[in-house]
Amino acid sequence: MPGVITFDGDCLIVLRRSLAKVAPEEGCALLIGHPPKSLDFRKQNVWLIKRIWPCCNVWAPEMLQEERSGELENILSDQNEATRVHLSKLNRFALDPKEQLKAQKWARANYLQVLGVAHSHPDGDAVPSLIDLKWGLSPGLMLILDKYGTMGAWWKSDEKRLRAVSISGLDKK
Ligand SMILES: [Zn+2]
Repeated sequence: MPGVITFDGDCLIVLRRSLAKVAPEEGCALLIGHPPKSLDFRKQNVWLIKRIWPCCNVWAPEMLQEERSGELENILSDQNEATRVHLSKLNRFALDPKEQLKAQKWARANYLQVLGVAHSHPDGDAVPSLIDLKWGLSPGLMLILDKYGTMGAWWKSDEKRLRAVSISGLDKK
């Protein structure tokens, strides 16, 4: 688990820009950086993000069928009609597996690795939604840009355990 996330160069600017570009739809990107153990300052367990890999949000209603099973059905039915989540690209994202593969190959060729996934909540907070908890990778690093432009970082151990991770240099907008 990372202790601190830090961005190299203008990676944070690039990330904010690429996630915000597709608003009001959710944007997504992969975070590529140094394998944590290769860092000199590993005592703090700093994860350095060196490259943002913008991805298309390829979520489609056809994916709903496979998502709409088991626990998600419970999450959805727990909400009353007025606040019931209508799933669309406005509140869901999906990464293209082909893009993920490309990013992984590029990272490996450059002695880096894919460290996590970032996505935006154009109409929400920088906190993983119930759906994010259910489908995000675990264990894994998740960065979320909220409707105010605030970035939140989370480490998800499993579907239920989540820890906030601090981001250094967040003031550099
Ligand atoms: Zn989300």
